[in-house]
Amino acid sequence: MRSPAVAAFEFDNSYARELEGFFVACSPAQVPQPALLRFNRELAQELGLNADALDGSIGAAIFSGNELPVGATPIAQAYAGHQFGGFSPQLGDGRALLIGEVIDRHGRRRDIAFKGSGRTPFSRGGDGKAAVGPMLREYLIGEAMHTLGIPTTRALAVAATGMPVRREEILPGAVLTRVAASHIRVGTFQYFAARGEYDKVRQLADYAIRRHYPELAEQPQPYLALLRAVCERQAQLIAQWMHVGFIHGVMNTDNMAISGETIDYGPCAFMEAYDPRTVFSSIDTHGRYAYANQPLIAQWNLARLAETLLPLIDSENPQQAIAPATDIVQGFTPRFEMHWLAGARAKLGLTTEDDADLALAQDWLELMRANAADFTLAWRRLSDAAAGERAALDALFADASELQAWLARWQERTVRENTPADARADAMRRANPIYIPRNHRVEEALAAASERGDFAPFERLLGAITQPFDERPDHAHYVSPAPAEVTACYKTFCGT
Ligand code: AMP
Ligand code: MG
Repeated sequence: MRSPAVAAFEFDNSYARELEGFFVACSPAQVPQPALLRFNRELAQELGLNADALDGSIGAAIFSGNELPVGATPIAQAYAGHQFGGFSPQLGDGRALLIGEVIDRHGRRRDIAFKGSGRTPFSRGGDGKAAVGPMLREYLIGEAMHTLGIPTTRALAVAATGMPVRREEILPGAVLTRVAASHIRVGTFQYFAARGEYDKVRQLADYAIRRHYPELAEQPQPYLALLRAVCERQAQLIAQWMHVGFIHGVMNTDNMAISGETIDYGPCAFMEAYDPRTVFSSIDTHGRYAYANQPLIAQWNLARLAETLLPLIDSENPQQAIAPATDIVQGFTPRFEMHWLAGARAKLGLTTEDDADLALAQDWLELMRANAADFTLAWRRLSDAAAGERAALDALFADASELQAWLARWQERTVRENTPADARADAMRRANPIYIPRNHRVEEALAAASERGDFAPFERLLGAITQPFDERPDHAHYVSPAPAEVTACYKTFCGT
């Protein structure tokens, strides 16, 4: 069935049109009881869609997969991936479908894709389905990242299907509609490279350059330039994650987007008490994707991307391409460090540069670690301390003398800034959020919505995390970390 004209999407499906052999055409499953659980009106408007027409039964029919909008060309994309270090040559969209692309109001090409829309030729043993809770989680975290200014895919809608999903328990089913700059992953390159289909790797690289890095097309070495550009965007992205305490949880190469957006919010979570070794994912038993490992893993994934590009960089003798490609991948570390330090300066309220700033930032983190201080609150209360409000900061640190010693160094440094303290406090409060999606609050909101159909906690939490820098009395519920015993056994699960 096709939806009415009022719900028109102006599709321009370049992936389906230009990349024959990179996907399998596939239709979404029909569902018995479509219902729109959440619709992102702001994002719909940004995409040039008719938000009024979609926010109701027409939207329920479309975003559950029951009625495809005119011009949709649903496809399951092929990709491979290193999962926890081991290579799977064929993953692909096992429960997702790219339904098309639109050009948004800012002229940017955006993918519109379903997740949980039924089985595809890539499903292997999976059921192709998704449950309400994890899809609402993806909605929440995407919106949080977006308002924190971190490049991310976003959710346009979550629709209930009325179909049960069998996991450890029976859960209500849902389809997420995800909007992304594209769904090209490191694993998409790996899929064709692993088959030795380098004509396809080249076709994909050319497409990725046109779509994400058009300024590189005329470079003498466009594929090296592509690798450098992807490294640069990942260096920026991971630095931004680190500064909000985000742990992706499953940084497999199939979950790393060439566009530089965060993708696939499965077992992700935000750290509370600062400990660089923090892991939340139930399946990450060796801590491969622990908080502090994320830059190293990003670089490891980029090395896998580099390998796929070697025969493109030097088609006569790919061995010759190893040295320049390795240089670029190694360059990730200084680029990451540069972005991290710039972010740390902003969080510390510093607008000028001093050689001692890195040590100042690192010592602050070490102080947080030694005191198991809440990462978000420590930064935020430091911002308040810039305005002379010390009590809330002091309460986070058991060791008052160490804190005092560090604050004295920081204050001595800020004096040399020549900016008024109030302006510094304001700037710091715009760099240090008060509200992040705290794990226990996310669980509370998802449980109410999924188990009782009560969306009030979800809406309240979404309200707080989409104004993350403005502390308000009516959002007090979202300030404090979970009790230690809750955090100690907090685990997130993927694939649900
Ligand atoms: P993820 O861990 O969500 O990034 O997924 C890894 C791979 O497993 C991808 O190829 C997914 O399409 C596939 N997958 C995950 N869950 C399911 C499911 N319920 N049914 C079919 N495929 C799935
Ligand atoms: Mg994935």
